[in-house]
Amino acid sequence: MEDRVLLGNEELKKRLSMSFRSGKQSHCYLICGPEGSGKRTLAAYMSQALQCEGQPVPCGQCDGCRKVKGGVHPDVIVVDDSEKKSVQVAQIRQVQEDAFIRPNEGKKKIYLIPRAHLLTEQAQNALLKLIEEPPHYAVFLLLTANAEKLLPTVRSRSVELRMEPVPFEAAAVWLQANAGGADLQTLRAAHLRCGGFLGQTLQYLTGEDAFPLMADFVRAYADNDRYGITAVFAFMEKLPRDKLLKSLTALKRLMTEALAVRAGTVGSADAMALARRRTAPELADAAKALQTAMDRCAANIGAGHICGLLAATL
Ligand SMILES: [Zn+2]
Repeated sequence: MEDRVLLGNEELKKRLSMSFRSGKQSHCYLICGPEGSGKRTLAAYMSQALQCEGQPVPCGQCDGCRKVKGGVHPDVIVVDDSEKKSVQVAQIRQVQEDAFIRPNEGKKKIYLIPRAHLLTEQAQNALLKLIEEPPHYAVFLLLTANAEKLLPTVRSRSVELRMEPVPFEAAAVWLQANAGGADLQTLRAAHLRCGGFLGQTLQYLTGEDAFPLMADFVRAYADNDRYGITAVFAFMEKLPRDKLLKSLTALKRLMTEALAVRAGTVGSADAMALARRRTAPELADAAKALQTAMDRCAANIGAGHICGLLAATL
């Protein structure tokens, strides 16, 4: 497991440390950003700051900080069940009951909802009641790649925190330490390909997101071979959802990189092949279509529908 530090995002950190110093926190934060952009790292940082007994917060040394870091703080409660496709109202009702019990040992009671876009409408309405009149010690951290999935009423009562890409200069040392000895040029290309989001960059560098049909896709898409493109998406349609999302992410990254190549940077052989044969508007449209597909995949829309649409548009 890589060392979890929140790099970059300077504006966000400044804003938060000011509110932590003044003790004027919100009761509900909506942490937004794509996969691998540091949402969980930010949530861990905030949880430490909220439970910290030292100075300056988070000190990283006190009992509160250490327990949050180790994932064993009894007053940081994760509301999720990865076996389920959605976060249901029954889970929020449990939170409602639990929220009336004071913290065990911490200063706050923190409820972390890592897949907030999967809250059902009923669950969101139950949550809304809670964030409208929360106990003074309760803080809710809602994480999502897609804030549009949440009811406007929930969003309007939350402070929205947006994860930003991290500039390469701020990330290079960390990437070098965590990406198993890749050289600077490889790191820079990977960072560019992943839009400056470090979790994604690391996943890409360590090969956790390999897409088995990448070569077939590159050839088919460069040649605008409709039959070849359809065959790739027919294969993707049968992947389990987590693999499908990873494959879509890999394709979206490739389009982003090919666009950058067209704008004059150096990229991987795959990206250069696409950039030679496809126009910038075509690549931009493809990146957009893939992003929409990723959002739909995360929202549990059927793989057949997602892949069918992509085969027809790309
Ligand atoms: Zn501390």
